Amino acid sequence: MNSAMVTFGQEESAVKSATPVAPSDDARWHAVLARDAASDGKFVFAVSSTGVYCRPSCPSKRPRRENVTFFPKPQHAESAGFRECLRCRPKAIVGNPRQELVKAICRFIEQRLDEPITLERLGREFGQSPFHLQRTFKAVLGITPKEYANSCRMRDFRENLKAGHSVTRAMYDAGYSSTSRLYSRTSTELGMEPAKYRRGAIAAPVRYAFADSPLGRMLIAATDKGICSIQFADSDEELEQGLRREFPFAIRRRDDTGLAELARRVVRRIAGTGSSAALPLDIQATAFQRRVWSYLQSIGFGETRSYAEIAKAIRRPSAVRAVARACATNPVAIAIPCHRVLRANGDLGGYRWGVKRKKTLLEMESASSSAQS
Ligand SMILES: [Zn+2]
Repeated sequence: MNSAMVTFGQEESAVKSATPVAPSDDARWHAVLARDAASDGKFVFAVSSTGVYCRPSCPSKRPRRENVTFFPKPQHAESAGFRECLRCRPKAIVGNPRQELVKAICRFIEQRLDEPITLERLGREFGQSPFHLQRTFKAVLGITPKEYANSCRMRDFRENLKAGHSVTRAMYDAGYSSTSRLYSRTSTELGMEPAKYRRGAIAAPVRYAFADSPLGRMLIAATDKGICSIQFADSDEELEQGLRREFPFAIRRRDDTGLAELARRVVRRIAGTGSSAALPLDIQATAFQRRVWSYLQSIGFGETRSYAEIAKAIRRPSAVRAVARACATNPVAIAIPCHRVLRANGDLGGYRWGVKRKKTLLEMESASSSAQS
């Protein structure tokens, strides 16, 4: 994980706490042993056996006490013949124009995470050559401006995910312009793919089965707790691929027999026959999705609502688009009847499994409910 943000905090506190009262050598030695970042900027320690001087928080191995000399500032250590440690870069830490510049660049980047920011643009903005700007930035923070922008996006992305946004939504909110870009980053920076992150990295066992339905091939998948996915597609291969994408880390096992009864219940529900008892579900939802999805479950067979009516009913009248998004991310077709939601003007609107299937469903429902009455 990138620690750019943390480093800044330390540098700031180091600058603020640079008081004129010098600590004793004993106190300095304790700070070195503790790798105390708050002491960075107050003094440096030089090691006679290596000829190098470091800031107190340097991650390198601690030297022997008898080889250590303390200096108030990097310049003093250098006039005594010591070289700057390339690992902790003690010279980069003291409050100076360079650091102020880098701080300003960081703020500039943070406010523009949704645009690509080139070194050329930063150079123009801050009156430096792109090369010089990048070198200064890297000397202070240890990463390039581009890496810094990525770490900020990644932080926003993680926070959005924790706040319960879907992967796609979190991605756009964090300024990522395409999924493939995000995935190429996350495999290294997040340590795992977003979908896994979202599911708490749990490799849960998921059983699945295929069945025929009036809407084409159907896949039904379930955990021990209930149905986690109901999908439609033209072929089993397509369905299986979708399942892999949806549950990349699950232990997937085909179980046609074990799931036959649940699959039959779903198919009967499509036709409007059989029990209307709720199907057992095991799905992840944000608070908002939960509200929309439970409302959808209250819409009876043969009835429809508009996105706006649902927004009003869940007391978020301005959230029409968010309602549409919640419908589009429904993981369990039929069990959560998102096909019963239309545009205000009566247009079908979208359907995750194709508008054609939505149309078929609505026609079946209206035919069979008029036949019943
Ligand atoms: Zn060092």
